[in-house]
Amino acid sequence: MLRELLLNLSHSKTARQFITHFPVARRVSSRFVAGETLADEIKAMRELRNKGMWVTADHLGENVSTEADASRAADDCLQLLDSTAAAGINSHLSVKLTQLGLDLGNEICFANLRRVLEKAKTVNTFVRVDMESAEYTERTLALVRAAKDVGYENVGTVIQSYLYRSEEDVQSLVADGIRVRLCKGAYKEPPDKAFPRKEDVDANYAKLAEMLLAAAKQNPSLYPAIATHDEAMVAAAKGYAASHDVPRSHFEFQMLFGIRRELQEGLRAEGYNVRVYVPYGAEWYPYFMRRLAERPANLWFFVSNFFKR
Ligand SMILES: Cc1cc2nc3c(=O)[nH]c(=O)nc-3n(C[C@H](O)[C@H](O)[C@H](O)COP(=O)(O)OP(=O)(O)OC[C@H]3O[C@@H](n4cnc5c(N)ncnc54)[C@H](O)[C@@H]3O)c2cc1C
Repeated sequence: MLRELLLNLSHSKTARQFITHFPVARRVSSRFVAGETLADEIKAMRELRNKGMWVTADHLGENVSTEADASRAADDCLQLLDSTAAAGINSHLSVKLTQLGLDLGNEICFANLRRVLEKAKTVNTFVRVDMESAEYTERTLALVRAAKDVGYENVGTVIQSYLYRSEEDVQSLVADGIRVRLCKGAYKEPPDKAFPRKEDVDANYAKLAEMLLAAAKQNPSLYPAIATHDEAMVAAAKGYAASHDVPRSHFEFQMLFGIRRELQEGLRAEGYNVRVYVPYGAEWYPYFMRRLAERPANLWFFVSNFFKR
């Protein structure tokens, strides 16, 4: 109920204007977001790299409504790629296709995606196309495949275990040699598309993680990303990898900036590859609302800070 309300508010322009108006919102959001500037992003990524973590850079933004905004978002990615390389930080880049103009049409979006992939290739960077709500799943997978077909090997995408279709998608992405990040899924989806019960989402997560790990044992270039803060999912993946001799170098765990830091550091200390997704930028509102929706305690933290301000 609360989750639904927060996810609905994440799309609301009025709620966005109201909430972002308060400095306390920006302060609380800084728990999940490196900052608003590129300098903040580089600093946060450098600190994580110094702790032995891998990083994914993300310039926040989604659902742009003009071609100029989509092109500007691609420019921001190019600048981020250049700055990360100039700072000597080895990172991945994440992008959302609605940030690159997917709502304006596949052609505009694909042209922007190609610009990003081309630049990423020159600085030897892997680009992960994040997965958004289910209305975009089919087109996102099609554009990622199209990018691979025109020769970009540095592209991968994300599969959400809450969708019924995901098992088939994992099978076909693995067959096509496309790298997958597995997550549970962060959007509000109807019961005809996604498992409504958490137990089913978790069971599917464990199943898909096993499929990806089994595939990575045969083909290390698939290098799946097990993206979760759920200790039970982490334990399931670790257990499967250990009992099926999947080398630790063939996969990585991924978590979000500011969430379960002790779990991130513990896994790193155990010798696993851990990558932290580090978002930054002025467009933090929808990302922040999804993080609030994931954990009611975050909302109470926000509300109590709001009244303390
Ligand atoms: C690296 C990465 C990339 C992602 N990319 C995508 C994507 O492209 N598309 C997409 O739909 N989703 C994406 N997600 C979000 C994902 O789908 C889930 O919404 C999110 O990770 C919460 O699920 P969970 O696996 O952590 O498990 P949950 O069962 O939700 O949480 C398990 C435990 O983790 C902790 N936790 C989880 N979330 C939070 C939080 N916000 N604040 C504090 N503690 C928390 C809590 O202790 C909780 O009990 C990504 C997640 C990660 C880690």
